[in-house]
Amino acid sequence: MAEKRDYYEVLGVPKTASDDEIKKAYRKLAKKYHPDLNPGDKVAEEKFKEVGEAYEVLSDKDKKARYDQFGHAGVDPNYGAGAGAGGFGGGFGGFGGGIDLDDILGSMFGGGFGGFGGQRRANPNQPRRGADIRVSLVLSFMEAVHGCTKTVTVNRQDVCPECGGTGAAKGTSPETCPDCRGTGFVTVQQRTPFGVMQSSQPCRKCGGKGKIIKTPCSKCHGAGKVSSTKRVEVTVPAGIDDDQSLRLAGLGDAGQNGGPAGDLIVIVTVRPDAMFERDRYDVHVTVPITYSQAVLGADVVVPTIDGKVQYTVPEGTQSGTTFRLRGKGIQYVNGRGHGDQYVHVVVEIPKKLTKTQREALKTFEDSLKEDNYEQRKGFFKSLRDMFGGKE
Ligand SMILES: [Zn+2]
Ligand SMILES: [Zn+2]
Repeated sequence: MAEKRDYYEVLGVPKTASDDEIKKAYRKLAKKYHPDLNPGDKVAEEKFKEVGEAYEVLSDKDKKARYDQFGHAGVDPNYGAGAGAGGFGGGFGGFGGGIDLDDILGSMFGGGFGGFGGQRRANPNQPRRGADIRVSLVLSFMEAVHGCTKTVTVNRQDVCPECGGTGAAKGTSPETCPDCRGTGFVTVQQRTPFGVMQSSQPCRKCGGKGKIIKTPCSKCHGAGKVSSTKRVEVTVPAGIDDDQSLRLAGLGDAGQNGGPAGDLIVIVTVRPDAMFERDRYDVHVTVPITYSQAVLGADVVVPTIDGKVQYTVPEGTQSGTTFRLRGKGIQYVNGRGHGDQYVHVVVEIPKKLTKTQREALKTFEDSLKEDNYEQRKGFFKSLRDMFGGKE
């Protein structure tokens, strides 16, 4: 098993980071390494997974506390197990037997581990839940707004169809380990500075499995699991937003010893749209209008997520005015109702005028009185009050 990096290091945050800082760091990195933005880049893909894993632990209060205290071994049931479980006995054998230690070993082996008193033992045959699988899904703005059906490709660990998960060749079955009599643990005596201590250690003969496979299954070579690539259809609900995820129960890796499968977690990234900007369930659109439309009022075409609508801009509309189209926003992802659409009106100043146009505009401008400009009137009055004089 490859050496695991520190989760804080992975996210680039200090150990004192707040939940918010952790979340921000995760979002930034998840975007950076997103497989869809780095197609075919294996390094980015690995980083994306690593970042997701770090966030899963550091965003969970309980897991974070365990990780802070015990490192990877505190949160990953499989950590180090593949490298020869015998290492645990050596590593932890010197402790007096704290409750927390029992907890972490319990989570490693999926059951209680009372090795220090020699009473309770983990059962290697206990059902264990399969791992969750994360996949990413990139949606267009409209796909997220209206919902869609997408197919994702998932590489998962399935129960081996040849041996049904036992790992033993057809017609044979795993045998109970003679050294540990199927418990997966052996009692050893150790000399320590505190005297001779008795402790339980994972059985070396069977690797803590409690069983020995004499003739391994030809398909899975004794693992009991096979990798399979599945295409999974995902129904994305209308209203889903960037950085949200969908959990599809039971579509993760198969469990062990009849344990339930993990979940498939689909992490959604929504591509920005050229026209629409989203703020939770509200939609913002900027519509340019002409000077005379703003002055005289006009019916203008406004895009909404459900198509074009006509909107009457009233006479004398100032640039920067915002109108609200109630209920024209995005459907709430969980439940009834819609957000609103905000239309930001911007007056576009024409450029490249001809001489005739310039003169016409000048004539028009000269015809206007101070009363035509409410804001300017107030502005120059304040100016006079403040500094005196005439303009
Ligand atoms: Zn098999
Ligand atoms: Zn054994």
